[in-house]
Amino acid sequence: MSFIKDSADKEPIVDTVFGIVNKARVAKADLGLDKVVDGTIGSLFDEEGKLVALDTVFDSLRNQENRVLAAYATSITGNPDFKAAVYNWVLNGNCPTLRCEVIATPGGTGAINMTINECLDPGQTLILPSIAWGSYKIMAQVNELNIMTYEMFEGDHFNLESYKKVCKKVMKKQKRLVIVMNDPCHNPTGYSLSDEEWKEVIEFLNECSKTHSVVLLNDIAYIDFAFGQERAKDYMKNFNDISDNVIVVIAFSLSKSMTSYGMRCGAALVLGKTKIGVKEVKNVFEKNARAVWSNVNNASMVTFVDIMNHHLEEYNQERLKYVNLLKERANTFIEEANACELSCYPYKEGFFVTLKMESNDIRDAFHEAMMEHHIYTIKVNKGIRVAMCSLNLKKIKGLAPLMKEILDSIEQ
Ligand code: PLP
Repeated sequence: MSFIKDSADKEPIVDTVFGIVNKARVAKADLGLDKVVDGTIGSLFDEEGKLVALDTVFDSLRNQENRVLAAYATSITGNPDFKAAVYNWVLNGNCPTLRCEVIATPGGTGAINMTINECLDPGQTLILPSIAWGSYKIMAQVNELNIMTYEMFEGDHFNLESYKKVCKKVMKKQKRLVIVMNDPCHNPTGYSLSDEEWKEVIEFLNECSKTHSVVLLNDIAYIDFAFGQERAKDYMKNFNDISDNVIVVIAFSLSKSMTSYGMRCGAALVLGKTKIGVKEVKNVFEKNARAVWSNVNNASMVTFVDIMNHHLEEYNQERLKYVNLLKERANTFIEEANACELSCYPYKEGFFVTLKMESNDIRDAFHEAMMEHHIYTIKVNKGIRVAMCSLNLKKIKGLAPLMKEILDSIEQ
């Protein structure tokens, strides 16, 4: 007998992150911080090993009146000034020809799950990258969806051929495509598509849209830590070229952008050519929001608006300091990895670098062996994720050659 609906997967969650994070925590408590390399943590940490909480953000929060922090949002889809600020910040003027509706969500997670849930019927197929953030799969499972994955890379580039092949396969089975792309600063590899690659993607999706409706779900969780900063948003110009039968949903997250992970705020930006298409998506998303979370954290929204309207310069400068730090850490790791021929997926920018593994068996053995050397990392499909966001430079220097030594020892 079960208390849960028949269709639910009743197995415990397979969480590849929290278990290892815990192991690293225990090791640090037992051996001391200096002896352990903890490359598991996916939040930004400073060089002293402390979580970064941007002063600009939390000073603004503290300056709000208690009643403002306590209040409900003024609308299910988010406060109007929040939606306007998100529109301006995320798109940076790049999509003037498109209709847009913004729906505030609890983090990027809220935007992604809402899109998956409302755009596909149970039994249909969601398209994901072969190496990806683990939550997408859980969302697919909870929404009773199948998944198909496209290979992320062909050599050092985005694998457009695989992307096309998978979309075409799915088009044979259903009338709508829903495709997740996590760009720029892909988690876990740190890849960002070039403008040319984005052009080709949009051209192809327009082709598909002649016979199928297409929803491109672009997860931009790490965009504000892209090395090109606002230039990293230029690729969105390509969205102006979508056809009437394509919708782009951008999932934006304040978790990383504002270093406010636990304050659960983000947004879905629904972009399309036609008023009727965008409106339909907005209506459905609004009802989903009402049913699932009702309304979004007012304190987060008010703080975001205050920063955008009154403290933008300080916020940009403070964030830039950490963008530069991230760049220095990643450059150090990649240079040393290249020098000792430790193979990594093509990294451009972002929180993580991922080591390329020939097989998941080798990956498992390597991951285990590294833990014997008190190096903690996260396993991903055919890879090992190393967090540049939370390891300080001292720990990063010399890490790649040590990893290579361990890898060579298990491969013999
Ligand atoms: N997308 C990716 C790739 C992520 O790694 C994360 C967080 O780790 C998210 C989205 C969503 O984060 P949140 O729901 O905290 O905004």
